[in-house]
Amino acid sequence: MTLAPQANRLAFRSFDEAVAALRERGMRLSTARRLALEALFAAERPVSAEWIAERLKIELTSVYRNLEALERNGIVRHVHLGHGPGLYLLVGEGEREYLYCERCGSAQALEPEQLDPVREQIRERFGHRARFTHFPIVGTCAACQVAGGA
Ligand SMILES: [Zn+2]
Ligand SMILES: [Zn+2]
Repeated sequence: MTLAPQANRLAFRSFDEAVAALRERGMRLSTARRLALEALFAAERPVSAEWIAERLKIELTSVYRNLEALERNGIVRHVHLGHGPGLYLLVGEGEREYLYCERCGSAQALEPEQLDPVREQIRERFGHRARFTHFPIVGTCAACQVAGGA
């Protein structure tokens, strides 16, 4: 059992499957919403709403509105990697949790199962149920430790 995932996440592997899953939920797929979804599939990494707005030449407020609707419907999620706005990603193939390096800004995506032992320890010691899907574990990556000596 993993303790992290969102309850309402939809499973999908392709754009067509995502569209079918949304239709099944009775969600209307406007052109802007469809384009935002396509952009996320093309990105293959967490991206900001600004990135999508620039790429699609769509108003930023409209992009946010559509991302929020997709997030409510369990298609998309956002994560905060460093300072700046949240980054959006598709959750169709499962949740990811992150290790973020505050020196070089790199982020390593992990399967939640990989962090379950850490989660379990925190829960045993403090009774706190931790998840790292929304905010990553922040620190210094292996490469930066070698480079910086700390
Ligand atoms: Zn957030
Ligand atoms: Zn680093």
